[in-house]
Amino acid sequence: MAKLDIIVAPDPRLKVKCKAVAQVDAQVRRLMDDMLETMYAAAGIGLAAPQVGIARRVIVLDIAKDDEEPRPLRMANPELVWVSQEDATFNEGCLSVPELYGDVVRPAAIRVRYLDHENEVRELAAEGMLATCIQHEMDHLDGILFVDHLTALKRNIILRKLVKAKKSADVAV
Ligand SMILES: [Zn+2]
Repeated sequence: MAKLDIIVAPDPRLKVKCKAVAQVDAQVRRLMDDMLETMYAAAGIGLAAPQVGIARRVIVLDIAKDDEEPRPLRMANPELVWVSQEDATFNEGCLSVPELYGDVVRPAAIRVRYLDHENEVRELAAEGMLATCIQHEMDHLDGILFVDHLTALKRNIILRKLVKAKKSADVAV
């Protein structure tokens, strides 16, 4: 496995609509494992392929707490087949939007269909933080960041902070 570099917004690679994978073969499996290693190293709970510069519909997640056994999820071509009428609000963050958070409203429960790491079609019912996390990662596959769900005012505050942070980072090196 190899740790990959996580792309930080604003970056055009985070705005692309990703292509489906034809099947989960050895190459896709390796990408999934590399993404998990990258996510764990960054102490994240989810990561989407475009965040590491790969425009394919692949996401990984693990919402287990530090003192729990890891519960890694690997999903290719995820699709929502059902969403609840009820919404839930979570204060979301993103490895590509470091240290900035915002409240996002999404369906509280979902059912997602995907290909697992063995190329088997699976369905998973999720609610709470897992439902939010899956929807957040799926958004990345369509070039959508959580900040795109915020009001223009909140989004612009966050984007300006990101641009400023990037500029000072450029100066530092
Ligand atoms: Zn994210």
